[in-house]
Amino acid sequence: MADITIFPQLEIPETIAAGPGPGNTDPRVLQRFASAGVADHMQADVLRGMIEAKLMLREIMGTSNIHTFGVAGTGWSGLDVMFSAVMPGDKVVVFTNGTFSGIDGLTVRMKAATAEELAANSLDPKPASVTIVDVPHGESVTGEIVEAALAKHKPKWAAMAHWETGSGRINDLRGFSDACEKHGVMGLIDAVSSLGVEDFRIDDFPGVHGWASCPQKGICCLPLTYAPVSFTDRYIQTLRASGTRTFVHHPIMEARHWGIIDGKDVEKGTYHRTHSAYAVAAFHEALRILLQDGVAQRARDYAFHEAALRDAVTAMGCKVTSNMTSLVVLNLPDKLAGREMELVQSCRATGFGIWPTLSEPVQVRIGILNLLTQAAITDIVRRFGAAMNEMGADIDMDGIIARLDRHFETAMAAQ
Ligand SMILES: *Cc1c(COP(=O)(O)O)cnc(C)c1O
Repeated sequence: MADITIFPQLEIPETIAAGPGPGNTDPRVLQRFASAGVADHMQADVLRGMIEAKLMLREIMGTSNIHTFGVAGTGWSGLDVMFSAVMPGDKVVVFTNGTFSGIDGLTVRMKAATAEELAANSLDPKPASVTIVDVPHGESVTGEIVEAALAKHKPKWAAMAHWETGSGRINDLRGFSDACEKHGVMGLIDAVSSLGVEDFRIDDFPGVHGWASCPQKGICCLPLTYAPVSFTDRYIQTLRASGTRTFVHHPIMEARHWGIIDGKDVEKGTYHRTHSAYAVAAFHEALRILLQDGVAQRARDYAFHEAALRDAVTAMGCKVTSNMTSLVVLNLPDKLAGREMELVQSCRATGFGIWPTLSEPVQVRIGILNLLTQAAITDIVRRFGAAMNEMGADIDMDGIIARLDRHFETAMAAQ
């Protein structure tokens, strides 16, 4: 027999996940993950946990949509389920303003392409029925842009990212929903970055018929668990009429294990695919934590801590171009311009996990998912300032930290 290499046990160090996501998983979630017993996916407590998770998700998302559940995997898994209702030849308008909505656009082009269109350019199809409205990096999709495009094209579906994590921009969900309603279009929203960070109720946006999020950003549940999704009855009826060519990512079939059958809640789920007791326990705990904190309080905490970080990096000479509250996207001061990638790499090498933008132009992204304390923000600012100073920025870090302390003291005093 040939020699088999047995590698040493894999050790992964503790780092600070200060990027756009994944966020820092709560120790309580990891504890639940590691404490779940060995149980199969039809064991009574696993099934009960899924039903309870479904009910908590409806509360967190602010919806009475029966078809609200989790899709095993990450954000793209939930999005694939949501986009599965888009069939070849369907007319769709997709609004893109960065990396992630760009991939949403690609997903839609793959689903809406006819067999001939897909074969013509299978990795990057350009179906005639899909219109991509591209808004430049660093800018938001506005209600006017959506209204104009829907009035002109009158599609069956329209899709947009709520928060475009690539550039850190918030898009106009209200304007999108209103335009969809006005033109009878079914809106589909990528809420991967906003759920659990902003305070919004999906039922307040009646133009939107499909929603998809992820486990590891606002929900803070990286132990690969569930991407929350929610669909209106109209979406489900449309899907039932057209069908879709997937078993595993079929919104109606995938819902069955969560106890949603024939459009109704039932007491107990039925088999669709294997679920992990560990994943169910972890996801359940993450949802409990979010409800205990409260979605509105979380949203306030994000806004407050993002403002503190934004103020500090601005005082350090950086220019912030984002408006999300979980993430700061910035340009370095003129004297360090062009060295963004070098700075990010030097930070990452020390376990300080910030990110560059993934598409042009190169900018620095610093995220605060589940890092909502004065100590965590101060640590981020110190590390970032030290890295800039190593590149010759010459920042007075004592002054910056004093400024940050004042931001927190003023808030305490106001309480
Ligand atoms: C992170 C992100 C995704 C991709 O999610 P994965 O969890 O990496 O699959 C999609 N859309 C948006 C807006 C995101 O922020």
